[in-house]
Amino acid sequence: MSKKTILVVEDEADIRELIQFNLEQEGYAVLTAGTGEEALAVAGKSSPDLIVLDLMLPGIDGLQVCRELSAKTIPILMVTAKSSDADIVLGLEMGAEDYITKPFSPRVLIARVRAILRRRENFGKKAAQQDCVIHKGIKIDAARHVVSSDDSRIELSATEFSILEFLIQNPGWVFSRNQIIESCKSSDYTVTERSVDVQILSIRKKLGEKGALIETVRGIGYRMAE
Ligand code: CA
Repeated sequence: MSKKTILVVEDEADIRELIQFNLEQEGYAVLTAGTGEEALAVAGKSSPDLIVLDLMLPGIDGLQVCRELSAKTIPILMVTAKSSDADIVLGLEMGAEDYITKPFSPRVLIARVRAILRRRENFGKKAAQQDCVIHKGIKIDAARHVVSSDDSRIELSATEFSILEFLIQNPGWVFSRNQIIESCKSSDYTVTERSVDVQILSIRKKLGEKGALIETVRGIGYRMAE
């Protein structure tokens, strides 16, 4: 899986470095800019996957940067001082996806970044896929995030849902555990090869009789029966 690139825009060097450090620790590639002008130049050249943008910048106003960058459909996480609700509202209206107020903990920052990237990914997926898939009596309503089997509702966790959705969209195809992990990497749960087995076991149980439709392909992985 390729590294996501994040552009950090902040004029205060120590804060910028702190954000950069924390994002890099999480495996993101990080670009930095100290001014709005620089941010626009860097974003224009390298189209990052997300921008962490401090609104308090010298030169071009952060909100102006926000407006120009969101026009390029790059998701933006605004960084604002506390008690600047008006700026936050304005920023959101100008196209920022979310905001975080100073001072913030690195964990909160990372969580917000992840959430935005996940949202973007799911958005892309949903646009490409049908909203509703029915296969052998199992119905997946992706838009409403609901699964039913012969019209009775099945309660699945987010990860189980992702896995089942992935398999059911590709009946007859066998997937390795790693492919299954990749398919649901947008969910919060960290999936490992071993835990794929656990998830599959749980999905089968919840599906009852239809659980047998998820076939184990020995030595390779799993497949939804055609
Ligand atoms: Ca600043």
